[in-house]
Parts: sequence; structure tokens; C-alpha cells
Amino acid sequence: MSALLEVEGLHVWFSREDDVDLHAVRGIDLAINSGERLGLVGESGCGKTTTALAIMGLLPPNASVAGSIRFQGEDMLAGGEETVRPHRWVDVAIVFQGAMNALNPVRTVGSQIVEALELHDRATGAGARARTAELLESVGLPAAREARFPHELSGGMRQRAAIAMALACNPKVLIADEPTTALDVMVQAQILELLDSLCRDFGLALILVTHDLPVVAQLCDRGAVMYAGEIAETGTVDALYHEPRHPYTRLLFAATPDLGGDGDVVSIPGAPPRLDRPLAGCPFHPRCDRVFEPCPTIPPQLKTVATRHAAACHLNDVPAPIA
Ligand code: SF4
Repeated sequence: MSALLEVEGLHVWFSREDDVDLHAVRGIDLAINSGERLGLVGESGCGKTTTALAIMGLLPPNASVAGSIRFQGEDMLAGGEETVRPHRWVDVAIVFQGAMNALNPVRTVGSQIVEALELHDRATGAGARARTAELLESVGLPAAREARFPHELSGGMRQRAAIAMALACNPKVLIADEPTTALDVMVQAQILELLDSLCRDFGLALILVTHDLPVVAQLCDRGAVMYAGEIAETGTVDALYHEPRHPYTRLLFAATPDLGGDGDVVSIPGAPPRLDRPLAGCPFHPRCDRVFEPCPTIPPQLKTVATRHAAACHLNDVPAPIA
């Protein structure tokens, strides 16, 4: 049986004025079922947000896409905008990075939610206003806040309003792109609790895009670690944390203050590679503390290393365990 949402062989290129294309996403596969929570993790510029926007069909005009993105078996990419539009917001919705970017600053939050409902024929007039009140209350905002402009709300309230708007059409998959960035720690915890309860109450599948591993550990069942537009490793959160099979995953955890284990926080040297140039061998090799003979020239393939656990690292082809 096919997954609720399946991404297969997804590539995204951005054309530029200098005629050098930027190959931002390089052939990734992802799948998620109802009620599952998948964390898409990695440093800035590794392709997480581009992947999310490709799923929504919201990439800018200079992007070209290859591969397939299927919702309940139906390829949303097959006919471009015509085939993705019926699914956008209705089946798959997104909470954008930074609620202030998602909300129109010169409209009240209520009118924006009403508009979303009306545009998708979910409700009109008094029915849309009643549903808006219901949606705001479901994300912990008093219904009276519908009359407020985004700048009249706190950061946490704006994020709740953005989540309410994403939920307007009862989507089955919610993509949350860095939903807690720029929020203080207490509000972050509240937003994560809200996402957790919404997923439980509505059986939502959640794709959480974040650079924050503790957030993934707290909220997700599975994680996919992206590096240089590829999936470096994917598995249950438990397996990624306790038995990482890719040095980048191990270093990401070690670089996280809360989850570093022995208390020492290490930084990952260097920076991700430029994606407007061909990559040789393993894209992580210039930064890897376990680099060996084949790494600079032979690209490792994503291979199964255990049940529901795969990694793209040559170390998994040699007998010595990765440590
Ligand atoms: Fe490091 Fe080589 Fe594995 Fe890449 S393939 S992560 S360079 S050990």
C-alpha cells in the first residue's frame, strides 16, 4: 500500500542570471503515513525548505523540478500547477518560517482565515466566521483575537494564528518549517505542545523542518538528515540518536548542547559545500572526521543499515563499526 505522501527521486534546480544552475535538492526519497511525524533536519542551505516548498508547489519561477510527489498515489507534479493546486492547503498545508512572513500585515488574522475558507469553498459568510473562531480556539487563541492585526499579537500568538490558517481546510499532512525559530524558549515549548496535540487530535501527518535536533527528538517518530541536498541518513529518532550510521548525524547530535551526552559540545568544522558546482565523492568528506580512501571520489549511496534505518556512508560497507 502506498504511503499518504511519497516523494521519489526529487530534484530541484534554481536557474540564475549567470547561467550556473544551483542544484538544491539532489534525488531524495521521503514517505509519510497518517499520524506519523517526520523531522527533516540539517544545517541551513541543505535543501530542507526547498523540499517543503516543492511539496507545496510553491517554488519560485526560476526553479525546475524533477521526480514525483504523490499524495495518496496521485502524482502532484505530473501536470504542474494544475495537479498540485487541488491538493495545496486542502490535503497538504504548510506553516511558513516566521509567522510574520505568512500573515498579511494589513489584514486582520480573522479575515485571512475567512478568505482561506472561502477560496477553497469550505464555508462562506457567517459559517466561515464561525469556523474561524473554532480554528482560533483549537490553537489556543480566544476567538476575539480574530479582529487583531498580526502586529497586535505576540510572536507566539502569531504562530498560533498561522497554524490555524494552515488547518483551515482540514489537511492530512502539515509541514511546519522552523515553527519555533525566533520564539523564546517558553513559547517554543508551547508551540511544540500545540503541534503535538493537533497531530494527536486530528491524526495529522507532520513534516517538521528544523535545524534543531532536540525539537525533532521531542516531537517526531522518524528523522531524515539532509546534507547538500541529499538524504545522509534516515531512521527512527531513537536509532539516529543512539546508533547514528553517518558521521554528520553523530556530529550534529554532538554539536547540540542538550543532547551532547558527555556535556562537551563540539562544532562541525567548515561549511556545507556550494551547490552551484559539481560535488565529488561524498559531499561531507571535507568536514568528516572519519574520511578515508573512497570518500573524496566515490559518492556513497543511501543503503539500508537496519530495519527502517538507512545511511549514505562508505563506513557502513566496511566491517569496523562506525563510532
Ligand atoms: Fe565521512 Fe566518508 Fe562516510 Fe562521507 S562516506 S560521511 S566522508 S566516512
